[in-house]
Amino acid sequence: MSTIFAKIIAGEIPADFLHEDEQCVVIRDIQPQAPVHLLVIPRKPIPKLAEADPADQALLGHLLLVARQMAHEHGIGDAFRTVINSGAGVGQTVFHLHVHVMGGHRASEQSLNS
Ligand code: AMP
Repeated sequence: MSTIFAKIIAGEIPADFLHEDEQCVVIRDIQPQAPVHLLVIPRKPIPKLAEADPADQALLGHLLLVARQMAHEHGIGDAFRTVINSGAGVGQTVFHLHVHVMGGHRASEQSLNS
């Protein structure tokens, strides 16, 4: 079954793309957990990081470089967090791999444990 992100990428559900290229798109998270909360989503529907394979090496690297670029463009280049949930057990809810890019909290809120 197609995920919400596959539908967004296919244009079946309207979304504001902050960035798009041949390999990925970037949207704002609909329920932001930080002042800036973006999602970098590969066009390839890899369900989760645990199911990526060596052929995805360049794509995975690209997603992180786009995350870096987006953080810079959205004013959080100095301090941002990237998260990839892999599996329902750690809270993954959309089974189409994506990189969360979050920032904009005060420094005191940037702990790894928050
Ligand atoms: P995860 O828990 O890692 O699978 O993250 C899925 C994220 O997708 C959550 O932070 C949701 O708020 C976000 N999300 C779900 N549906 C949409 C949507 N239509 N547009 C933007 N973000 C969404």
